[in-house]
Amino acid sequence: MLAKTSRRVIMVWPKPLKAKRDYIEKLAARENVSFIWDSEVSAILGDNGVSGVSLRNVKDGTSTDVACAGLFPFIGATPNTGFVPASVANGDGRHLNTSHGFATSDSRVFAVGAVRTDYGGNIVQAMAEGVGAAEFASRLLLH
Ligand SMILES: Cc1cc2nc3c(=O)[nH]c(=O)nc-3n(C[C@H](O)[C@H](O)[C@H](O)COP(=O)(O)OP(=O)(O)OC[C@H]3O[C@@H](n4cnc5c(N)ncnc54)[C@H](O)[C@@H]3O)c2cc1C
Repeated sequence: MLAKTSRRVIMVWPKPLKAKRDYIEKLAARENVSFIWDSEVSAILGDNGVSGVSLRNVKDGTSTDVACAGLFPFIGATPNTGFVPASVANGDGRHLNTSHGFATSDSRVFAVGAVRTDYGGNIVQAMAEGVGAAEFASRLLLH
C-alpha cells in the first residue's frame, strides 16, 4: 500500500520474512521497493520531523543512517494472552497449545485462531476452529 503512494519504500526487517512467498515476490517486483535485511530501527532522526533512521545490523552490531521522510512501524501482532491463567500451557509464552477439540491443558479453556500454536494464518481457518471448539464444548456440557 505504501509503495502505491510513495516514491520509494525501504523495508527494514531483522529476521527472515515469514510472510507468504506470493506477497514477498509481489513486493520485490516493485521498482520503488528495496529491502534492508538483518536490521532494526534503533533511532528516528530529525528535529521537527523525520529526516532519517538509524539502523542497527542485528548480526554484526554496526549502525547505518538512512535518509527518509517518514516511517511506518509494523512490528507484528502479539497474541493478547497475558490474562490466561498459568494453569493453561503456554507454548512459547504467547501462543496457547491445544489438543483435541481445541482444548488447552485446562479442559474448560479452548483456544482458536491467532492465539493458538500451529494456527495456519487464514481467517477461514480461525472461523472453522471457532465452530469446532464450540461444538466440542457443547458436547462436553451435554454429556
Ligand atoms: C494486515 C493483515 C492482513 C491479513 N490478510 C488476510 C487475508 O487476506 N486473508 C486471510 O484469510 N487472513 C488474513 N489475515 C489474517 C487474519 O486477519 C487472522 O488470521 C484472523 O483475523 C485471526 O482471527 P482471530 O479471531 O483468531 O483473531 P483476531 O481477528 O485478531 O480477533 C481477536 C479479537 O479479540 C479481541 N481481544 C483481544 N484481547 C481481548 C480481551 N482481553 N478481551 C476481549 N477481546 C479481546 C481483539 O480486539 C480482536 O477483535 C491478515 C492479517 C493481517 C494483520
